[in-house]
Amino acid sequence: MRCPRCKHKLVVGAKFCHRCGAELPPELTEKTAQWYHDPVLVLLAIFLFLGIFGLPLLWNNPRFSGWQKIVISVTTVIYTAIILWVLYYLIVVYILPVYNQLKGFT
Ligand SMILES: [Zn+2]
Repeated sequence: MRCPRCKHKLVVGAKFCHRCGAELPPELTEKTAQWYHDPVLVLLAIFLFLGIFGLPLLWNNPRFSGWQKIVISVTTVIYTAIILWVLYYLIVVYILPVYNQLKGFT
């Protein structure tokens, strides 16, 4: 999001431009005020907590361009698939044999 007067990059949630002091129209400040419109926070939320469930946040975000949404979505799906595969592998290779051994002792 940029200042309509001087094109200076705006801080999230700013009501005034930090460079030229222009008052920003409310629709502009409201759009930047919500945390889920901050690209960095959205990316952190998707990669750290939400995985593919965070994709609606991405697609509703006006601050990502179309190709960015596609690239991030594909990356997230691959990333989630890798995590699920690693979990599956850990369970089958490490946890199931231990579990079966423990069962044999009782
Ligand atoms: Zn400005």
